[in-house]
Amino acid sequence: MSENLIKTTDVTVDYGKKRALKETSLYFNEGTVTALIGPSGCGKSTFLRCINLMNREIPGCVIGGSILYHGDEINNSTYNTFQLRRHVGMVFQQPNPFRKSIYENIAFALRRHGMSNKDELDQRVQESLEAAAIWDEVKDKLNKSAYALSGGQQQRLCIARTLALHPDVVLMDEPCSALDPIATFAIEDTIRDMSSKGICVVIVTHNMEQAARVSDRCAFFLLGEMVEFGPTSELFNTPKDKRLEDYLTGRFG
Ligand code: ADP
Repeated sequence: MSENLIKTTDVTVDYGKKRALKETSLYFNEGTVTALIGPSGCGKSTFLRCINLMNREIPGCVIGGSILYHGDEINNSTYNTFQLRRHVGMVFQQPNPFRKSIYENIAFALRRHGMSNKDELDQRVQESLEAAAIWDEVKDKLNKSAYALSGGQQQRLCIARTLALHPDVVLMDEPCSALDPIATFAIEDTIRDMSSKGICVVIVTHNMEQAARVSDRCAFFLLGEMVEFGPTSELFNTPKDKRLEDYLTGRFG
């Protein structure tokens, strides 16, 4: 039986009395990149935050429907978010390294998850920084503050921190919007690398060129509704829904 890594069925999100996300059913598989696209305020980040249960931390936020991770229901009050987030990592719009050294940014999370052997930590720190394509730039200054890095390097450090825990899903919320084009391309290369290693990547982006460059599938959101989902080339070249066609041709958004 082929099982989706993540499968959502009729997921809704209410912030108090306001429904921000209507019934959304999507699936995500290993080794694929899925872009969530659509104009600002249409529910993309809200949906993304359902996948690692981050919305739970927002007072008054209620998530309805089913979210299966490896076939297990996670949208219930008993699911352990600490364990979930070890496997379902998240990278945010603004790089958010800890106020610690480059080395400690990665080792800290590993220790919290029980790794204490120095050689193992050293090895995992290096492997993660290599996977995020930043090792060569930082290997001689691992004890320097992460805050001394450029914005693009900080974002790659945050990706390395996520990869250190060997996640099978990485959620990215506009990860390049604060970065220049060169730093953006470096992150996009890393995204393709992650998917070639089997990681399931779900990325929110308002940049249509980026969605076309990095994603295998796209889901188009509008006014809290997931309007169309499918292979990126199909959505871009032969959109089925008139609203998506209008968005792609720049009639709104
Ligand atoms: P997008 O990611 O597509 O820009 P969001 O998911 O951020 O859209 O927002 C969808 C809607 O939900 C917007 O109307 C936004 O104002 C609302 N919203 C998002 N986060 C919150 C929150 N924490 N509390 C209340 N409303 C929110």
